[in-house]
Amino acid sequence: MRRVLILGGTAEARALAAELTALPGLHVVSSLAGRVNNPRLPVGEVREGGFGGPDGLAAYLADERVDALVDATHPFAQRMTASAAAASAATGVPLLVLRRPGWQESAGDTWQRVDSLQAAAALLRPGARVFLTTGRRSLSLFTGLPGVWLLARSVDPPEPPVPPDVHVLLDRGPYTVEGERALIREHALTVLVTKDSGGTLTAAKLTAARELGLPVIMVNRPPLPPGVHLVDTVAAAATWAAAPA
Ligand code: NAP
Repeated sequence: MRRVLILGGTAEARALAAELTALPGLHVVSSLAGRVNNPRLPVGEVREGGFGGPDGLAAYLADERVDALVDATHPFAQRMTASAAAASAATGVPLLVLRRPGWQESAGDTWQRVDSLQAAAALLRPGARVFLTTGRRSLSLFTGLPGVWLLARSVDPPEPPVPPDVHVLLDRGPYTVEGERALIREHALTVLVTKDSGGTLTAAKLTAARELGLPVIMVNRPPLPPGVHLVDTVAAAATWAAAPA
């Protein structure tokens, strides 16, 4: 049996687990960070919780005799990806990174790209009513800005206390363009702040923003560790994991 570990927490990781568990000769384990209440679970075997940094992951790879490691985490899960690259280098277990393509600006969009959440917050001006979709752990970077009101949408609630200039909306998508348009209108939002997550599940907000002329502050993805083997489709990752070079 070829033993494959998928670092997950994304729709692509779940799709990959479904494809690989259906193949003969593979033993597949999906790993989740264990941060989200009631996570969407992949099919097949699942383990939860951090490994304890690169050394912990390297020990896990050796103990579990993992033959192939697929990092299918979110494009902004930078620590996990760095850890995967370091553990792969230390153990010789081959690593593939699966990343969905980023979003591309198209006609009618007004996007401003920035390299960090801090840079996004620095662009907000008094009077802004912000549609904030960068995750609950980034909320503190955006609160307390003079004259800035936030509609913060996240899967799980942020740590209390939530300041008065924030309205929290708990939702995990997928979202519709109609729903996003209604939200923008209902709260008279003037700017969207989002990470360049890519994919279809959360892209409706970008279409709604384009239609309503809402400017977008788009936080670029962090860079990948140098030299990693990268693919952008589940099919390519499945082919690699079933028969790693
Ligand atoms: P991160 O900052 O890169 O990771 C922080 C720590 O969490 C890692 O060092 C690792 O702990 C642990 N960890 C992360 N992903 C893990 C996994 N799949 N399995 C086991 N441990 C994991 O990651 P994050 O941004 O907090 O993301 C956490 C999870 O949520 C990931 O699975 C990611 O795919 C998913 N997710 C993230 C985002 C996002 O915007 N960042 C959005 C949607 C889903 P140790 O060092 O102890 O091993």
